[in-house]
Amino acid sequence: MAAAPDAQGRVEYGLRVGGGEASLNERIGTPLRLEWQGAIHCVHCGRHTRKSYGQGHCYPCFKRLARCDMCIVKPELCHYFQGTCREPEWGEAHCFTPHQVYLANASGLKVGITRKTQLPTRWLDQGAIQGLPILEVASRQQAGFVEVLLKEAVSDRTNWRAMLRGEVDTLDLYAERDRLLEQFRPGLDALREIHGDDAIRRLDAKAQTFGYPVRAFPHKVASHNLDKAPLVEGVLEGIKGQYLLLDTGVINLRKYTGYQVRATLAG
Ligand SMILES: [Zn+2]
Repeated sequence: MAAAPDAQGRVEYGLRVGGGEASLNERIGTPLRLEWQGAIHCVHCGRHTRKSYGQGHCYPCFKRLARCDMCIVKPELCHYFQGTCREPEWGEAHCFTPHQVYLANASGLKVGITRKTQLPTRWLDQGAIQGLPILEVASRQQAGFVEVLLKEAVSDRTNWRAMLRGEVDTLDLYAERDRLLEQFRPGLDALREIHGDDAIRRLDAKAQTFGYPVRAFPHKVASHNLDKAPLVEGVLEGIKGQYLLLDTGVINLRKYTGYQVRATLAG
């Protein structure tokens, strides 16, 4: 599922069906049927795998690729400098590039990090209604150090049920940024002493807001699970983050990356 905001921040979703891409926004209110055909193909090597590891990888790729290593989730554990990076060249291209530390609001205030080029996609993945980059750093590891610091005061998680129920109040992200940068000034200064004054730069970016195509939020969030029930049918009530909201329950499409799924749209 592809997502992109228009000029007003309204998120447009498309689904790859057959050879083309179908707009999903236009399908809100219509029946949708998803059927897992029983196969999973590794998103990296294409090999058939009985189980999906690390969102769509086969087990050998999961154990071999740097992008599946623990240090991607916890960048402060980056071990490149110990000479043990699984794929040093991939690391140089993906981890030793400018990263941003951001604040977002998907189910309340959260802190996160991402490569500079991944915004606003990252926010749309999370179903965030607001996002604001606050710092730019030179590498993924440095972003991890900053995140570890800010996590003392702000969650790095999204409560996906609250996000899907749509019970999210808007926040003043500028005020939150100023408060956090003030609170953690000593810690950030200590990191600058280690990594250089230029390594961790404050950004004065503009906050972005996003609206998702949802006509009815669920009161109770029940999830479909293709592993247990390969056929999912329902009327599409909305789309938020990586979730389709059907009147029969929600489904996290990201979780089924690599699954061979047949989608049937009405009409
Ligand atoms: Zn593979």
